[in-house]
Amino acid sequence: MSNYEDLLNHAFKEMPEITSTKSRWNLPDPEVRTEGNVTVYENFKKTVEVLNRNSDFVLKFIQNEFGTSATIDDIGRARLTGSFPATRFSSIIQSFSQTYVICPDCSLPDTKLEEKDNSTMIHCEGCGALSKID
Ligand SMILES: [Zn+2]
Repeated sequence: MSNYEDLLNHAFKEMPEITSTKSRWNLPDPEVRTEGNVTVYENFKKTVEVLNRNSDFVLKFIQNEFGTSATIDDIGRARLTGSFPATRFSSIIQSFSQTYVICPDCSLPDTKLEEKDNSTMIHCEGCGALSKID
């Protein structure tokens, strides 16, 4: 029995710690709802907070991706003209974070945007990398 326990303890010790960006960074799944010809992005505000970016900037990106107009209502939900599925919001938010949030060097989201020589740069607070956004 004690041999078995030793083996078990050993096995646990050998297990790699799961510390992926995804588990560390709780980007919420988009909660969307359609109201007639409008798609309401219910947790837009929360998503923007996690992304740590300006809400108008995020909205503009979503608008361009869908090719539609959008507004932010008084409680911080985004309202888009047209009917769009949650899965498309997911992939748009993923692509936003890949472009404007995730550090290309270390893959962590602890970054901020900076303007430099008419380019937008992504400045990583984790590894210090300064990368140009294309
Ligand atoms: Zn980095």
